[in-house]
Amino acid sequence: MNQAPSPSSHFDVVVVGAGFAGLCMLHRLRKMGLRAKAFEAGSGVGGTWFWNRYPGARCDVESMEYSFQFDEELQQEWRWTERYSPQAEILAYLNHVADRFDLRRDIQLNTRVDSAHFDEDASVWNVRSSDGGTHTASYFVMATGCLSSANTPKVPGINSFGGSTYHTGRWPHEGVDFSGLRVGVIGTGSSAIQSIPIIAKEAEQLFVFQRTPNFSVPAANRPLTDEEVERVKSNYGELRKMAGTMGFGFNTRSNEGSAFDVSEEERRAEYEARWKMGGLPFLGAYGDLILDEKANATAADFVREKIRALVDDPAVAEKLTPNSILGCKRLCADSGYFETFNRPNVTLVDIAEAPIEEITPNGLRTGGTTYELDAIVFATGFDAMTGALLAVDIRGRGGVQLRKKWEAGPRTYLGIATAGFPNFFMITGPGSPSVLTNMVPSIEQHVNWIADCMTFLQERGETVIEAETGAEDVWVSHVNEVASATLYPGCNSWYLGANVPGKPRVFMPYLGFPEYVVKADDVAAKGYEGFARG
Ligand code: FAD
Ligand code: NAP
Repeated sequence: MNQAPSPSSHFDVVVVGAGFAGLCMLHRLRKMGLRAKAFEAGSGVGGTWFWNRYPGARCDVESMEYSFQFDEELQQEWRWTERYSPQAEILAYLNHVADRFDLRRDIQLNTRVDSAHFDEDASVWNVRSSDGGTHTASYFVMATGCLSSANTPKVPGINSFGGSTYHTGRWPHEGVDFSGLRVGVIGTGSSAIQSIPIIAKEAEQLFVFQRTPNFSVPAANRPLTDEEVERVKSNYGELRKMAGTMGFGFNTRSNEGSAFDVSEEERRAEYEARWKMGGLPFLGAYGDLILDEKANATAADFVREKIRALVDDPAVAEKLTPNSILGCKRLCADSGYFETFNRPNVTLVDIAEAPIEEITPNGLRTGGTTYELDAIVFATGFDAMTGALLAVDIRGRGGVQLRKKWEAGPRTYLGIATAGFPNFFMITGPGSPSVLTNMVPSIEQHVNWIADCMTFLQERGETVIEAETGAEDVWVSHVNEVASATLYPGCNSWYLGANVPGKPRVFMPYLGFPEYVVKADDVAAKGYEGFARG
């Protein structure tokens, strides 16, 4: 049951968001006996999986790994049905978690947190919510997600459109029936690549407006057999521990060596095997794929050949073939994406040279041609990593706004705290590995770190903790240095903020897992080194 709003109240901790991160944080705080409250803008829990209900939405990290490990009974009892479970199943799981651990009584839905200001005299956060509530909290935790702030480009005429518009990240709960309609999809990232094959089967005509072609490998999704589920469940603890030493989980099988340690035949055989196996482990074929351009080209050329083989019309295949670094934008995993362009009702419109000029009452104009449309789907992604954080008016010491502090790009210590903002934590904030890993274990690691930190302070009778500027500077330099040694900064990805006009270009996630966990544990073991306490 959704709680009645409490217009004015004090909590030990205010948590913003009720996705994987908010739910996990709330549960842990409860176990510590703290008075915690979560505010969630949506009308239900689930975060990403509440909002992204577009056709074909599913995870691309295997479900047996893309799930919580904090409760042995939960992971033993929950039965995932597919290798990559669909959105509805992940949402059902998160609802189950909320019920199972009786979390709902401390979650206020349909409520956005608008501002949080730190009161230096009282050492509390003053939090304002969209229902008019004002709250105070000793700690303020943003569990607002890396990919939750939908990015809809400001195309001229957008409000004049006579048909329906949708964003994949804000999909209507009742679903959308595209039968008999002329549909335009803008974007060719992961969300578009998952939804296009399904929309194409339903719509009368589908136009895909592509600014940049993307690399995608087959997901090879399939139902999970009882045997394989049992194999994992009988050894879950050990497998999870092993996954803690690997970025994307225990089924990723990464090779450390160079692509040039082996012959061309062996390399091709490796790529072929990974293509058949399906999914993101394709990128783990060799240790230097994202470090060395020539090594990367061996894998990229392999995928380019596959695209040419899958798409009948060579001119369309050419347009769909990326000339960029494989993995530099997040690799996509698809179920029949490239083949969809062989359908007679599907047209690829290359807008790389001629951006969308205008949306008109009847459609969309680009390159001087107007495409008549009944519906437009914006698969245009998110203001990633900082969007949801900066949407809240967060002010630290001296009334300094987080927006102001991060004007030239986010600055954090460990992606979890930022100097000048005491008792403020971010779950999977910029500067943490987050989106470059399986996010659920990364979320749990942050939750545990934050909770342990609060316990540490409590045990010592301390009430304030704050990242030191020096430690933050060193961390920010380190995050940049690590990224610069790779091929990641070389393309216009959302990792760099390049998808949002005017956003500072800074590589936001930290490329270092599991080293990050070792570092974070070490900081804690040294009495929260790099933090001032009192
Ligand atoms: P979210 O799930 O984004 O939840 C944040 C919540 O905070 C939202 O519900 C939002 O409404 C709420 N919120 C934000 N601001 C406010 C505010 N001011 N006031 C109140 N509430 C607020 N990651 C993987 O590792 N593997 C995958 O396969 C994978 N697939 C993905 C598929 C899609 C379509 C998308 C978009 C992302 C995917 N991700 C995946 C990343 C995914 O976002 C994370 O795995 C995870 O779900 C994030 O959980 P979270 O709780 O941190 O954030
Ligand atoms: P995205 O990867 O950022 O893709 C957005 C697409 O929209 C890109 O093709 C982009 O083109 C295009 N675009 C943006 N603005 C545009 C404009 N003004 N005009 C024309 N085209 C424009 O977003 P996403 O597909 O929603 O995915 C975001 C992330 O969420 C993924 O990378 C992944 O981490 C996660 N996700 C995962 C899955 C999964 O399989 N589990 C599914 C969906 C999302 P440019 O490339 O030119 O910018």
